[in-house]
Amino acid sequence: MNCQDYDVIVLGGGSAGIAAAVAAAQNGARTALVEAGQMLGGELLTGMTVDGAINGRGEDTVGGVLNSLLQLCRNMGGFVAKLNDWRLIQYVAYDPEIMKIAIPQLVFDAGVTVYLQTFAEEVVRSDGKVSGLVVRNKGGRQLLTARAFVDASGDGDLCAMAGAEMLSVGRDEKPQPMSMMFRMANVDSGALLAYVREHPECVAVGESDAIRGGRTDREITEEIYRQGQPCVFFKGDGPLLGSAIQSGDMFPTALVMIQPTSASRREVCINATRIALDDPTRTDNVAMALRVLSQQVFQCAEFLRKSVPGFGEASISGMSPRIGIRETRRVVGDYILTGEDVLSGRKRDDGVAKGCHHVDIHQDGTGQIRIPVADGGSYDIPLASLLPKGLENVVIAGRCLSASREAQGSARVMGSCMAMGQAAGSLSAMASSQTNHASLRDIPVGRLRQTLRAQGAILDGTH
Ligand SMILES: Cc1cc2nc3c(=O)[nH]c(=O)nc-3n(C[C@H](O)[C@H](O)[C@H](O)COP(=O)(O)OP(=O)(O)OC[C@H]3O[C@@H](n4cnc5c(N)ncnc54)[C@H](O)[C@@H]3O)c2cc1C
Repeated sequence: MNCQDYDVIVLGGGSAGIAAAVAAAQNGARTALVEAGQMLGGELLTGMTVDGAINGRGEDTVGGVLNSLLQLCRNMGGFVAKLNDWRLIQYVAYDPEIMKIAIPQLVFDAGVTVYLQTFAEEVVRSDGKVSGLVVRNKGGRQLLTARAFVDASGDGDLCAMAGAEMLSVGRDEKPQPMSMMFRMANVDSGALLAYVREHPECVAVGESDAIRGGRTDREITEEIYRQGQPCVFFKGDGPLLGSAIQSGDMFPTALVMIQPTSASRREVCINATRIALDDPTRTDNVAMALRVLSQQVFQCAEFLRKSVPGFGEASISGMSPRIGIRETRRVVGDYILTGEDVLSGRKRDDGVAKGCHHVDIHQDGTGQIRIPVADGGSYDIPLASLLPKGLENVVIAGRCLSASREAQGSARVMGSCMAMGQAAGSLSAMASSQTNHASLRDIPVGRLRQTLRAQGAILDGTH
């Protein structure tokens, strides 16, 4: 079998994996990034906003690699805007087409070796240490070896293959639904916002005190109008969407969430579709999801064109390049981040990344749990939630972190995933440069925090 050696191997090229690979390479490690698909960036390519990077008070909670990426987008003239959703959060909207160009530039310029259409199918492990990843691609099977590994596979594949303990949803629950994001161009935002201003009963607004700030619903829709961007969340139990669901014009859903992606194309991204199946790692479930979700995209676009002011002349301009998967397996780490840690905005001396998104658990049909972080603040993700129990040289990053279901419902968003990625990549680079190839746990967390701060990560100073 052909063999290649690196200092650090990152599995998974989603938002967490690209940040991990860039951080590892920036810290001097010979880094490989392994991705089953043909693109890098995962959900960053769909048009959804980056959540979890600005808290409810408007403070930035994530910097570093995310900032570099957004700056690259701005340098190319791409649309990037920090906006208030006037519901629970503030977020960063951007043009996903420019993002498709910026991500490879960032990753390749950092010096990362990229393996695309390459699937990791086995790990080589002995005594709690992983020494290699067996991958398969059109060239056949290949062994990639390294001193440290980052599992940013979303599903925790590397840890699962290495025998780590995994968490999944309970027997009587379903994981969060899969969804297909899509975009519509030629939207008249003025008409949409004028409608929203007059119909606060149709949209979700002011669901946290930090965002509401004592305003009435009508005052908030006035703010949405004044912001001038199509940031609108039609709620499933509101009269507009609710009656469309009842009449069969729309499938049952908790939301039709609209966010801007490009001013010049007058384009928005739409998050609405959903199918909840028992296990999104099963191929037959993903196939079923493709069939149902692509039909829902069409149905939702028809509903918007027919029933929502501003969409009369709009058309579908893009569908996500892949099915969106919110929740599968989580890895059991040295510490399991809890819902209480998240909701109370707990700060810690061993925090290596921040989260600030509300607990956001989509459910089947019209259900969605949304609970804000206290005082519009943020919480720290400790290093121990990124260290898989029983594995010495593997770090976790992204939505498969060691967390309760509730905590994952917050930390899964892209801002925190990128912050975790930066921490995981930096730590693996530091560990791989030790001459004795020490365990990741031998690196003092204070040293990692110092490195992260020096490279622009935000670890302190936020509510
Ligand atoms: C529909 C939807 C809407 C969302 N809305 C928002 C939003 O508005 N804002 C926000 O910030 N977040 C949102 N999220 C959450 C967020 O996008 C994801 O949780 C986050 O992007 C996960 O990133 P990740 O890198 O951890 O995992 P993923 O994006 O899942 O990336 C993992 C990568 O690993 C690769 N991989 C997995 N296994 C293997 C293997 N064995 N071999 C090789 N490659 C492998 C996969 O191909 C994939 O590219 C949404 C998620 C979904 C699905």
